Amino acid sequence: MTQVRRKRRPLIDLVLIGIIVSLTTVILFIVLSKDTFKFQKTNAESTKNISTESSTFPGIRIVTDVANDKQTPLAIHYPQTESSAFNEEVLQYINTSKENYLNTMKKKKNENGELNISLETYSHRKQYYSFILTKSEYTGGANHNVSTKTFFFNSKSGKQVDMRTLLQNDENNLTTLAAHVRSELKQNPKLKDTLLEEQLLKSTEPKWANFERFALTDDSLILYFDEYEIASGAAGSPTVELSLSFINPILAADFQIAMEEMGNTIVTEQKKANDPNTKRIALTFDDGPHPTVTEQVLNTLQKYNAKATFFMLGNRVQYYPNIAKDVLTRGHEIGNHSWSHPVLTKLPNEQIVKEYSTTANALKNAIGQDATVFRPPYGATNKLVNAQIPIPVVMWSIDTMDWKYRNAQQLLPHIQNSLHNNAIVLMHDIHQSTADGLDAVLSYLQGQGYEFVTVSEIMQYR
Ligand code: ZN
Repeated sequence: MTQVRRKRRPLIDLVLIGIIVSLTTVILFIVLSKDTFKFQKTNAESTKNISTESSTFPGIRIVTDVANDKQTPLAIHYPQTESSAFNEEVLQYINTSKENYLNTMKKKKNENGELNISLETYSHRKQYYSFILTKSEYTGGANHNVSTKTFFFNSKSGKQVDMRTLLQNDENNLTTLAAHVRSELKQNPKLKDTLLEEQLLKSTEPKWANFERFALTDDSLILYFDEYEIASGAAGSPTVELSLSFINPILAADFQIAMEEMGNTIVTEQKKANDPNTKRIALTFDDGPHPTVTEQVLNTLQKYNAKATFFMLGNRVQYYPNIAKDVLTRGHEIGNHSWSHPVLTKLPNEQIVKEYSTTANALKNAIGQDATVFRPPYGATNKLVNAQIPIPVVMWSIDTMDWKYRNAQQLLPHIQNSLHNNAIVLMHDIHQSTADGLDAVLSYLQGQGYEFVTVSEIMQYR
């Protein structure tokens, strides 16, 4: 018996130890999981309005931070890249903006504020990203403030890049850029009556700090100025857009357009123009310029190295002179499409002349030159109308009916249905669907061997 007891004791001890260990584990688990639960809960509370989504740009996510608090509402959008160091920089700006806003509002208990930070993204050669954060802050009373902050990111190195890198860290290049920017601002008809001369000179002095807010697209450099910085409030936040080919000599190699590339394009263009067997087509875009649709059309045309003709309305040119200028700078032909889009055949002669000449003046102001061709609205013209117009009147041979269908998938079929050599195609650069369907059109026509030329050029072969 005693022997059996002796053998059993360590077994009982083992069981007891086992029970104690498991009890301790259970208690520890409860305590720890309680802590974890607590931590997760507070974390969730502070981030409950933050969401992150992927974007059309590879490797770039968009963070949205929204709070619908009655006194301190906010809506913030900012980018998130694969580089934590870069994200940290962006977050620092966001958090400082948020803190300043919330602190200011804390002191104004009876007033409601609003903070909005919107995000715009541009890419350059699918490697460099420009993030433009526009902050609009209202802190009660008359305290409304709009400002721009930009971040420029090299997705290959994961690093932020500044204007010094862009201009090869060369003070002479900075001086050249400053001069271009100043002259563009002075020539901008939109800023004509609002520019503040002294502040303009100060803000465009060749100092690196003056040119920190910029964005780079595939073909232009955009510089940002704040509200009231160089012009009175009526001008809003002015921007300057310089085409990269224009500032090519001062750019660092990574951002330059290769000279060989430029040369080759010219040579091939000349060869094809002289070849009688070339298939040609003239794409035309009426009723613009439009601030976003025209730009998208221009980018798609550039992708295929295609030239086109834009028949503009005078009353839109006066609102978007920079877009009109961009059309010209990027090598397209500019047409006059009247001032207000009336049926010209129903107007007295002096009204027809006025529709033409006011638009001619608006174009001269915006792009420094006249239109080379005219297209009557609705194609409504006759000998009497034509007699009032001093430049060639150009109609079309393929109507895409894009204004009616407003469907990106319908654009190409409408052209295919009546496709012929030396055709002039009618489209409108005021419909998003037209801009969206254009890539398919260019891709197909290029595949069929067509050259994309302006209407003045195609008229020689018709
Ligand atoms: Zn029209």
